[in-house]
This record gives sequence, C-alpha cells and structure tokens, in this order.
Amino acid sequence: MEQRVLGSTGVAIPVVGQGTWQMEIDDEAACIDAIRRGIDAGMTHIDTAEMYGSGAVEALVGKAIAGRRDEVFLASKVLPSNASYSGTIAACERSLEQLRTDRLDLYLLHWPGQHPLEETFRAFKDLRAQGKIRYFGVSNFDQAELSKAIAIAGAREIACNQVLYHLLERSIEHRVLPLCERHGIAVVAYSPFGSGRFPAPGSTAGRVLASIAAAHHVTPRQIALRFLLRRQPTFVIPKAASAAHALDNAAAGDLRLSNEDVARLETAFPLGRDRGVLPTL
Ligand code: NAP
Repeated sequence: MEQRVLGSTGVAIPVVGQGTWQMEIDDEAACIDAIRRGIDAGMTHIDTAEMYGSGAVEALVGKAIAGRRDEVFLASKVLPSNASYSGTIAACERSLEQLRTDRLDLYLLHWPGQHPLEETFRAFKDLRAQGKIRYFGVSNFDQAELSKAIAIAGAREIACNQVLYHLLERSIEHRVLPLCERHGIAVVAYSPFGSGRFPAPGSTAGRVLASIAAAHHVTPRQIALRFLLRRQPTFVIPKAASAAHALDNAAAGDLRLSNEDVARLETAFPLGRDRGVLPTL
C-alpha cells in the first residue's frame, strides 16, 4: 500500500483509507469484518463522523478497531451545529467515548456552519494541546472558505480538506485542489465511487474504464481510485460493507497508471466547466 504524507502533518498514511458513512444500515458483523480485513490490507486510515448513525457508526468503528488502536489513523468530524468552542470540546469527548479511544488522529469540521471558525479552531487547538486530537482539518470547504480558514487557523495548521471527488465529479480540480497544493493541505476524496453513481459498464465512458481495467487485470473501481490519486496531495476513502469490497479497494493502493491511461480517463470523464460552487453530497 502506497503511503503519502498527509498535508503538513509529516505523518505518512495509506493513499486508500476506509469510509464508514451509512454503515448503521448495513450488517454490523460484515462491516466490522470489512474494516478489520481492510486494516490487515493496509487501509489504516478510517474515516467516521459523529453524524453517522447519530453515533452508531462511531460505536461500530470502536468495536472494529478494539485492540488495534495503534495501527489505525482515526478520523472523525464535528457537526457544524456543534462547532462552538464548548460544543466542539463536548462533541470530541462524545466521539472518543463512542470510539472507545483516548485520542483522534484527525478531527474535521464536517462542513462550514454558523459558529465562527475562530471558536472551532480554538477548540481544535486546545484539544490538540490536551492530546485528545493530533491534527485537525475541514470538510466541504470551497476555495473562499478554505482561504478564510487558513487565515484564521494559521499557515500549515489545516491538515486536510475532505471533499467530494469522483470520476463524474471533478470540480475540485478547478480551484480547491490547486489551492490545497499551494498550501500543503491534503485533499481527502470522499464518495470516490460517486456514492452509488459509479459509471455504468455499458456507457461509453464505462467501456473506457473497463478496457483500462482489463489491460491491468484489475477492477474498474481500482482504476477509478488510482485515477483520483494521480495528484500528490490526494487520498481516497471508499466505503465497503464487505471484506471482498474492502480488499478490492485496498489493491488500488499499489496500482500504477500510465500517462496514456490517465489521458484516456481525462477524456472519457471530462472535467467540465467551473461552475463556481463546490459540489457536496
Ligand atoms: P463511495 O465510497 O463512493 O461508494 C460506496 C458504495 O460503493 C457502496 O455501495 C459500496 O458497497 C460500493 N463499493 C465499495 N467498494 C466496492 C467494490 N470494490 N466493488 C463494488 N462496489 C463497491 O460512497 P460514500 O460512502 O458516500 O463515500 C465514502 C466515504 O466518504 C463515506 O463512507 C464517508 O466516510 C466519507 N464521506 C464524507 C462526506 C463529507 O461530507 N465529509 C460525505 C460523504 C461521504 P458496499 O457498501 O455494499 O460494500
């Protein structure tokens, strides 16, 4: 599994991690098995949030990583409605309890909200000083919001911006990704399979994807993940509710695409024009 340094943290983590959204509606034992087998395969970055199943998914993740906490790079997120100074501290304490751990490796503001960023970041820095989180970042921040966040948090403080990024939704490449590159901020691509919008195998673009996958003797999903990883600051966090899917995704971590493969995918899944807004789920 290829590792990359996450933004300005100096910490190397796997390029392919594990998402957990909506696991509360999947089979719990299968999800726990998927997460554990995923960790075995090197997908040690696990992404969750207090929002997911209103804490139920954090509890599931806590079970999955029991006894293996030190192997894992654990990320969770505070809801914007909780992101006042005291609300952020309390939300983090709740997440630690659900996850049955004493620290988060990464703590994100889930999306921009009403509470002043000054308060949220002050709470993040105090949590960091207390050893309850190691790094902090943001999610769903467009270029203007991210610029403001950098000005408030300080240079090299924001570890990552977690944003929507998949073959059919490449908008971040217009401005958000370049801004992150300039500031040494990692881009964590969420819903890398489009959260149910994966290219249909019979579509023109789907056939391009399939032919590249066949040439590499891998699955189209692995090609899709590797395409998203072609620029340095990027990481992906596909969600899998079965060990088979988790292991399939982990294998993308060692795949290499040729320049020609990338060019064919760029053409088949065009960037499109800059609509000036950051798409979210
Ligand atoms: P996704 O990862 O784009 O797609 C998940 C879907 O792909 C599931 O239906 C899954 O099926 C299927 N799948 C996974 N691996 C597969 C494989 N190898 N072969 C075939 N099918 C496969 O969707 P997502 O959950 O929306 O996004 C990933 C993660 O990003 C989330 O879980 C969450 O952690 C994060 N996220 C963050 C935000 C945010 O606002 N920050 C928003 C959305 C998501 P099974 O479940 O049956 O395995």
